[in-house]
Amino acid sequence: MRILVVEDEMELCGAIAEGLELDGYAVDACYDGAEAHELLLAEEYDLVVLDLNLPGMDGMDLLEELRKVNREVKVLILSARDSVEDKVKGLDTGANDYLAKPFAFAELEARIRNLLRRSFVQEDTVLRFAAISLDTLGRAAAVDGRPVALTRKELAILEYLMLHPGKVVSQEELMEHVWNMEADSFSNAVRVHIASLRKKLKEKMGFDPIATRIGQGYCLREEGSV
Ligand code: CA
Repeated sequence: MRILVVEDEMELCGAIAEGLELDGYAVDACYDGAEAHELLLAEEYDLVVLDLNLPGMDGMDLLEELRKVNREVKVLILSARDSVEDKVKGLDTGANDYLAKPFAFAELEARIRNLLRRSFVQEDTVLRFAAISLDTLGRAAAVDGRPVALTRKELAILEYLMLHPGKVVSQEELMEHVWNMEADSFSNAVRVHIASLRKKLKEKMGFDPIATRIGQGYCLREEGSV
């Protein structure tokens, strides 16, 4: 899952981005409203953490512009403006949640998990496919309850595939949602990480649960299916 953090207090912005990266998200950070607007038009984010008092473009204006073209991306407003009017206005303008500063990082994490889960109608914090389970809270995967040691990227890829069961996910889509902007889109990073993820899952499951559709991408499959 890919997140954009828009916050002009650099230290706070860096701390949030770093914390979310440790949670396994691909994170980009931005200090300016106008720049954030550009990024949101150009890149595929799953969620935006949005401050309101920003240079370049006010957060509320940004949200209004964004919602004209994109209803999908989840927006969590993180602001020192904490009056009821501000919260109502933010939610009416199309924010999915509103957290007032100062805040506890654990609460921000919980709200982000909740929003991303909701977008996939996922009630539980644990995703399941065949014998595979993935604990989105503890950031760990298991096969038949036995832990599989995955790297952060492998886990993020598996999570994305498990959130889209039955769908063929392209390399580009994985690149967009699992890596941040620093990633080189021409690299073969996706293929390398898919290969190692595959190997680890196959070892535990006795078959390869990731099918490759030539020219299209990857999808999860049950044992015996092609
Ligand atoms: Ca600010």
